[in-house]
Amino acid sequence: MSRIAYVNGRYLPHALAMVHVEDRGYQFADGVYEVCEVREGRLVDERRHLERLKRSLAEIRIAPPMSPAALGVVMRETLRRNRLRDGLLYLQITRGVARREHAFPPSATKPSLVVTVRASDRAKLDTLAATGIAVVTAKDNRWERVDIKTVGLLPNVLARQNARERGAREAWFVDAGGLVTEGTSSNAWIVTQAGAIVTRPATLGMLKGITRAVVLEVAARQGLSIEERPFSVAEAFKAREAFLTAATQIVMPVIEIDGHKIADGRPGPVARALRRDFHRHAEIS
Ligand code: PMP
Repeated sequence: MSRIAYVNGRYLPHALAMVHVEDRGYQFADGVYEVCEVREGRLVDERRHLERLKRSLAEIRIAPPMSPAALGVVMRETLRRNRLRDGLLYLQITRGVARREHAFPPSATKPSLVVTVRASDRAKLDTLAATGIAVVTAKDNRWERVDIKTVGLLPNVLARQNARERGAREAWFVDAGGLVTEGTSSNAWIVTQAGAIVTRPATLGMLKGITRAVVLEVAARQGLSIEERPFSVAEAFKAREAFLTAATQIVMPVIEIDGHKIADGRPGPVARALRRDFHRHAEIS
């Protein structure tokens, strides 16, 4: 069965799903996006993803092209047309198509809305999580407003490619003070020798991950001690466990950072238990 994408009001075969060359997403990265997990044909944490989308749009002053309820219909129809069971849904809204000029286009310009989905292999991800992954660190050279989920991801792209070339699956950005901000598409966590889980507070300098928010709730229910504070790379090297969170990975154990093995180099019990319990707490609709 062929893949179907939603593009500005139409459901099109993936190969024909296109936006104009003067779309401001293409010209200026003038747009925002969301990625939701799809599990057994249902959306995971749709409400929170749409709330974050609303905030991202407001921060860059793009009017929502439709209501959250209508967006929910488009998202579900895209899933249905693709008969997707397990995978990811990608949603992007840009400031629309207009003559190339930096300042905002005329107010009648309609934002562009694209929704695509793709299947993923859950068993394969689980196998990866059973082994854990390596990460490398990278200087955080992004703009200040990474709390907005914009499609301007060039530093993330370059850091991730560098990670891949160094045999790692993710890069963790590190600020000028040596503190880890977040991954190129994930949030970063450690478990201290005392057993507390540590993650940077979601103020400026990182994206407020939806998976991060749910994992904090799961951790609280599990009775874990939680410290929302920045941690350094040096502290991560000495941690009992490290892991990352993202809608695409859920909870993924990190067993190596910049070539240093974390603890015994195997996924730890805290990350494993958070991964196991995640979907019991997430909103699935
Ligand atoms: N940080 C960045 C930079 C990301 O791109 C993502 C993935 N969207 C995350 C964190 C994790 O966010 P979420 O849990 O909402 O997927």
